Amino acid sequence: MHELSIAASIVEAVTESAAAYPGARVQQVRLRVGALASVVEDSLQFCWEITVEGTPLQGSQLVVNIVPVVAHCAACGKDGELASLQSFRCPHCGEPVTDLRQGRELEIESIEIDEVPVPK
Ligand SMILES: [Zn+2]
Repeated sequence: MHELSIAASIVEAVTESAAAYPGARVQQVRLRVGALASVVEDSLQFCWEITVEGTPLQGSQLVVNIVPVVAHCAACGKDGELASLQSFRCPHCGEPVTDLRQGRELEIESIEIDEVPVPK
């Protein structure tokens, strides 16, 4: 499953970052996912639950921010957000667009951790 490997690579990356804070629990991971990244959020959430088991991310929340597709139009020179993934046309002038500027992202936006209080 596509989402399972995505979840696994995110968990791996976050675990590495969290290693700088021994004992800390990851509370929340925010992702930026382009509308063209073909990620099914429900499926990713399901895979997340499985993947975080037994890691410092166990019990953490995955927040998926879907990034709209933005294309640059050669005809009118503007960047525009595509209204639909079925129609790759400039929202300003209606010409077909092929120069995508945004929408394929799949990246970690932020990680929220709960630092363990330092014993006195
Ligand atoms: Zn245009």
